[in-house]
Amino acid sequence: MRTQQADFCEYLQFEHLAAVPGLTHAVFTRRGGFSAAPYAGLNLSGVTGDDLATVRRNRETVIAALGLPLVGTLTVHGAEVAAVERDADADVETTNEAEWLEPLRARLRQTRADAMIADQAGFALCWAYGDCAPVLLFDPRHHAFAMIHAGWRGTARAIVPRTIAAMRDRYGTRPGELLAGIGPAIGACCYETSAEVRATFAAEPLAGECAHFEERPRADGQGMALYLDVAASNEAQLLAAGVAAEHIETSGYCTGCRTDLFYSHRREPKPSGRFAVAIGLRT
Ligand SMILES: [Zn+2]
Repeated sequence: MRTQQADFCEYLQFEHLAAVPGLTHAVFTRRGGFSAAPYAGLNLSGVTGDDLATVRRNRETVIAALGLPLVGTLTVHGAEVAAVERDADADVETTNEAEWLEPLRARLRQTRADAMIADQAGFALCWAYGDCAPVLLFDPRHHAFAMIHAGWRGTARAIVPRTIAAMRDRYGTRPGELLAGIGPAIGACCYETSAEVRATFAAEPLAGECAHFEERPRADGQGMALYLDVAASNEAQLLAAGVAAEHIETSGYCTGCRTDLFYSHRREPKPSGRFAVAIGLRT
């Protein structure tokens, strides 16, 4: 990934997505921003206790860096896919953003989903992350894009193939043409999990086959433990869904190992912040 600097923030971009004209995307690090410890930096989440006025200021920083307004559903660690689009009667030619943006935001506030798909320009899909894998997709033929919030629960329910199927149904997306980016997520180095979690994966055959679990001794010498690699599991799901290996770029960052750059729900003292990830098309 390449690193970009903007006013009061820093963000990473996948090389192949950054090369697409009109497409904008960013994985924001926690550097910059206005939050104080323990949220220090560019915290985008208002639900873990940070000062809301400060979170709004951080959000404005993200909007300014992207040049697009942000939209997003409620995330619930499920496997639902939401299509994000303006109301049919909203005038797409309108220069008054509020006319279509506020109704869209109001609708999404009532929508529970952990994957968003879209093919309209003028807004960025955006969520805040802190260990779950952000997976970004772009279909160059149909100018459709997606953002996935893949924690262990979504990954166990094969949310990546579900999202690709939804793009195929709605936009005619061909998986072999998709460009995919997997952002910073908690790695097997840091993520101890349980036999129950492995059993949940096994209940969904594709997710079970693609899961990357690792059994190894605990660092503290207290016996063996099971660890999960969320990013690698999602990469395997992308491949299983027909995405070409050369079209997949992974960040290589573990959020737990790199709390200097990102937030980690599991590895930082609680409460902690959440970093922003966004993707959208410019008008
Ligand atoms: Zn780690």
